[in-house]
This record gives sequence, structure tokens and C-alpha cells, in this order.
Amino acid sequence: MIGRFAPSPTGPLHFGSLLAALASYLEAKNKQGQWLVRMEDLDKPREVKGAASHILKTLEQFGFEWDGEVIYQSQRSDLYQDALFQLEKQSLIYRCQCSRKEIADSAIQGIDGLIYPGTCRHTKVTQMPYASRIKVNDIPIIFNDAIQGLITQHLATQVGDFVLKRADGLFAYQLAVVVDDFQQGVTDIVRGADLLDSTPRQIYIQQQLDIPTPHYAHIPVASNAAGEKLSKQTLAPAINAKDASAWLTKALAFLGQNPPSELIKNTPSEILSWAKQHWQLEKIAKQRSIIFE
Ligand SMILES: [Zn+2]
Repeated sequence: MIGRFAPSPTGPLHFGSLLAALASYLEAKNKQGQWLVRMEDLDKPREVKGAASHILKTLEQFGFEWDGEVIYQSQRSDLYQDALFQLEKQSLIYRCQCSRKEIADSAIQGIDGLIYPGTCRHTKVTQMPYASRIKVNDIPIIFNDAIQGLITQHLATQVGDFVLKRADGLFAYQLAVVVDDFQQGVTDIVRGADLLDSTPRQIYIQQQLDIPTPHYAHIPVASNAAGEKLSKQTLAPAINAKDASAWLTKALAFLGQNPPSELIKNTPSEILSWAKQHWQLEKIAKQRSIIFE
């Protein structure tokens, strides 16, 4: 059993990322598994300087202990390129030079953004720069999420051929996350339900690369009263180490674990050891989001 927490260093840890860290940690540690931390820092322009080390420091202050070295996606491009070559050899990849505007003009809305209409599937692109897209097919992707239940998605009609490497040379999250989870031997992925709709794309890549699909559990995300996910953009409350015990107790309550009211008086490490013993994934609400105020 190997779990992981994979934050993007685009700002300090907020309540939403604490939930993902806590749930993935407890699911792994409750089963005597390992818990890895990976920095998803592929998108350098979006990265905030110092955020990665700030996140790691906050995790420590909250009592988390990770196994092994923290890995950084920005240092792993060779692995992503190898995977892309492997897919190219199977004739699954084509080059696309459509501009954002061209796609917006011809595409219809899908489950997670616009459905690329496949314009470049049959054209020969020889000049740089171009994006690399993977061809999808009509076979539905079906998986059983431990919290959200049975999920079915048709990539061809709901997503379309999607980008694995952008024209600016950046590898897409969808490819990097699959390669890293496989390389790190991750067996159980616990993360926010905002990523549920992209999971079938990742399963599709796993299938094409002939690598195993891990178990998935997508926890509800914390949202504001307007239904927006709490994030830096929606002014999520910043969590701070001074109130770590209070934030951990709030997160445990959010995750349905019914922490006793006196738990808050303990240190973060003591709270985590209580939570490790009492953790029950089944108690998490089977919802994609929960209002948190
Ligand atoms: Zn195109």
C-alpha cells in the first residue's frame, strides 16, 4: 500500500490541500502503508517562489511524516518523454497546431473544458511548435471510486483527443501524474473530487502504456456557499501552524471522522495518531463538495 500527496507549489497550503494531505496520509498509515510527497511543479510560470519549501514546512508543523525523498516533477521530463515516445510508437499521438481561438470557434463544451474536434488528426504538421495530442476512442472508461462510486466516461464524446505535451514544451498534468504514480509504485490515490473528471483520461493513458490502474478515492472538496471550490482564487482561509491542532480537528470533522471535542487540546502529532487508529474511509460523505464556513 503506497499513497501520496501531490501539491502544486502555487501558494501556501490551504484548507482544501490539507484535506487531501490528511485523507491520503490516514488511508496509507491506517493500513501500515507508505505515504509519499511529490511536488507538481511542471507549470513553472504559475509557481510561486518559495511555495514548495513553505508547503513542506507546514506539513511538518502539522505532524505529517512522509516516506522517502520528496520528488519534483520539473526534474522528471525524461521519464515523461519516454512515455510519450512509447505512445507515439503505437500511433496514438499526433501533432496539433490549432490556436486556442480556432478550437474555441469550432469546439463544443465537454465535461472538463472544450472537446477538441480532432482537426489535426489527419493533417501532417512538420513545423515547430506543435502540441502532442493522444487519440481517444469510443470504449467507455469505467472505474469504481471508493467514495464516489461507479464512474463511467466516454472520452470520445465528453473529452476528445487531449494534449500530453503543450506547444511550449511543457508536459501535461495528465501524462506526468500517470508516469509518476507508476514509477513511485503508488497503489492508492486519495485526492479531491475536483480531479474526478480527469481520472478517466489518466486511466486511458495507463491502459495504453499497459501499466496498472491504482485504486482511487476522491474526497469531497470544501466549497463556499456559492458552490465554488475553496482555493487561493476564492480566498480560502489560510491555515497556519499556530492553530494546527484546530485545523486538523476541523479537517477530521469535514471528513466525517467525528473527532472528540477534547482532541483539539492535543499536539498535531497526537491528533494524527488518534486519527490513524480511528480512520474509516467509509465515513466520508459520498459527495463531490461540501460547504465549509
Ligand atoms: Zn489541431
